[in-house]
Amino acid sequence: MAVLSWKHHTLIQSLLERGPLTEKEFHFIFTGITGQNPGTHQGKFNDYLLKINRELSYVQLDLRACRDPYDGRVYFGVVNNVSDDQSKLGTKYSVPQIAFFKAIVEAIAQDVTAEGTICNLDALNIKLENQVLNSSGLQSQDVPAAFKNFTVSHKEKTLDQLVKDKWLCYTEDDNIGLGIRSILDLRSWFHNAGVPSCQVCNEAGFKAKLCPNDGCAVRIHHYCLKKRFSQKGMLVCPSCDTQWQYQPPKAEPIEVKDEETEPVQSQPSSNPGPSQPSLRSKRKRQRLDNVETAGCSSQASGANRKRVTRSSAHPR
Ligand SMILES: [Zn+2]
Ligand SMILES: [Zn+2]
Repeated sequence: MAVLSWKHHTLIQSLLERGPLTEKEFHFIFTGITGQNPGTHQGKFNDYLLKINRELSYVQLDLRACRDPYDGRVYFGVVNNVSDDQSKLGTKYSVPQIAFFKAIVEAIAQDVTAEGTICNLDALNIKLENQVLNSSGLQSQDVPAAFKNFTVSHKEKTLDQLVKDKWLCYTEDDNIGLGIRSILDLRSWFHNAGVPSCQVCNEAGFKAKLCPNDGCAVRIHHYCLKKRFSQKGMLVCPSCDTQWQYQPPKAEPIEVKDEETEPVQSQPSSNPGPSQPSLRSKRKRQRLDNVETAGCSSQASGANRKRVTRSSAHPR
């Protein structure tokens, strides 16, 4: 068993303490430790990751990279391989909080419009009792009190905590999306849950663009689409031959700048972690007076708009 040097340990430590980190931040740390730039020493960088992962596998951990479909950037993080699902929240979150998180993840993953978001009101309207009843076959009188007593204010606090811990994020259009921690961690869950993959990169396409042809199930990430368009200038759907149009989403600028090959040198990483735009203040809440009855019109009508016939639409 190969022994890791202090350099490997420092890399692992940086991700455990401050991660997930953007590619730029992680590369900067790597350069600081080894004196070599991953952009020009790709092989060396990969060797480090390989060696680290060989050792981490003994304790069921995995150093991963993935692209965040909301901002298009690459992130690195260490994830727990033991159970690749929401149970990882167990040490910090209560059972109803985990059920709430799970319901949000499912709603986002199964959204047939592939917006990758749920609106605040829809999230607060999630009924935890239904979660239990649907999954366990319990009678309504058997629903634990903790679930029945999980109020809107509990939900709001939980949302804030989940965003702070990067399990969820607030998107620029004031909705709730998956955080980078979920994106890194839930990779196999997405697969098992039948979340349709991006046609280009094969990663989960819960936030992606749908083929303009309503009858076609192909979806492609915004950043994958952008890349294709910059390479070929046009794109014809590989499945139905419909011509795709490319238009960057205005609310979520796509940043594909820090590409794996881009040289990294400047940019001090004194600012740990991906910068989540804090929308808390701006977002200052849609009135909650009618939260129990109101739905989120944009999302609700969006979901029914026209995509219900898509073959990939069925939840699991
Ligand atoms: Zn993709
Ligand atoms: Zn198509």
